[in-house]
Amino acid sequence: MLLPSFEYAAPTTVGKAVSAQKASGNFLAGGTDLFVALKDQIAAPDLLIDLGGISRLNGIKRDSKTRELRVGALTTLTQLQESPLVQEHLPALSQIVPLVSTQQLRNMGTLGGNLCLDTRCCYFNQPSFLKMRWEPCLKIGGKICHVVKKSDICHAVYSGDMAAPLIALDAKLRLAGDRRKNETDLLSFFTGSGIKPNILKFNEILTEIRIPAIPENAGFSYRKLRLRDTVDFPLLGVAVFVQLDGKNGKCRQVRLVLGAVGPAPLGVKEASRLMHGRHITPKLIDEVAGAARRMAHPVDNTASSPRYRRQMIPLLIRQAFDEALAMIK
Ligand SMILES: Cc1cc2nc3c(=O)[nH]c(=O)nc-3n(C[C@H](O)[C@H](O)[C@H](O)COP(=O)(O)OP(=O)(O)OC[C@H]3O[C@@H](n4cnc5c(N)ncnc54)[C@H](O)[C@@H]3O)c2cc1C
Ligand code: SF4
Repeated sequence: MLLPSFEYAAPTTVGKAVSAQKASGNFLAGGTDLFVALKDQIAAPDLLIDLGGISRLNGIKRDSKTRELRVGALTTLTQLQESPLVQEHLPALSQIVPLVSTQQLRNMGTLGGNLCLDTRCCYFNQPSFLKMRWEPCLKIGGKICHVVKKSDICHAVYSGDMAAPLIALDAKLRLAGDRRKNETDLLSFFTGSGIKPNILKFNEILTEIRIPAIPENAGFSYRKLRLRDTVDFPLLGVAVFVQLDGKNGKCRQVRLVLGAVGPAPLGVKEASRLMHGRHITPKLIDEVAGAARRMAHPVDNTASSPRYRRQMIPLLIRQAFDEALAMIK
């Protein structure tokens, strides 16, 4: 498939990038997802604004006061993995990056692009000549959903790997554009809509991801279910952050987030309600896992059945808690 024609702009500042944008344009980061969408005629922008020349969007710093890591949105996944700052201060984050796609794609693909990915569905992510077999669905302006019959909302899945672990780590985002509030927590960045998965307006850019330091007595884990051990998008992702009280070993704070079970990452608030102030035992983990499984409603639009993906939720949650708790000991 050939790329369609489009105009190309390469601004050197965020301000110029924002003002160059038109409603029918797209921002371009690493292009690993966007170029596939262009070739499949899923996206048809008449203008691509390449963010790669904006030096402010690139690189990783550590705030010496707050100890948080500030990752520019155009930082590639490989840079994130190999950064000495990340390896020293957040090694668990560096270790999960290889779970995303392949080495070549991580060399080009950026952290910002990962968080801004469009949602996916087996009826939508198809070349146009295959999609012609089906009546246009809600995501492309039609009136029906092929996955959930009679549904008037789109259930396409947000399948980026990095969002769930970063939500578990309590990351915040900085945005540029014409909104008044330019900072948001990562969970609120997602709208829950399969059609428009994040809050960015057409002329807004994600500029920075701020990740707090992992405190004392805390552990973190991300587990991913996929068909093959490389390339594939997640069929399910489970991220856990847990901090214990240093004196009595009881749970001080916990965040459990499921990825790839719907149009947005799913924060499992029950985890905090059930675990806070208690010793985390296998029985308690099973209770939380049961609650998470009841909350998640994957539908039949990925490479695996919803039933299997739901069945795997408790297993991945147990593995993630075991790994996170082992980090503390
Ligand atoms: C074969 C294959 C396998 C893959 N496997 C995985 C996987 O296992 N896990 C996974 O998470 N991803 C996977 N991906 C998707 C993709 O490679 C990564 O998510 C990558 O990190 C996307 O980043 P990018 O810079 O290439 O984004 P791009 O393709 O450049 O952009 C993606 C979208 O985000 C928007 N965007 C990008 N940056 C910004 C910004 N700063 N502000 C506003 N909007 C922005 C673009 O306009 C576009 O709509 C896969 C892709 C392919 C082709
Ligand atoms: S979930 Fe339904 S509406 Fe959404 S892309 Fe798939 S078929 Fe279309």
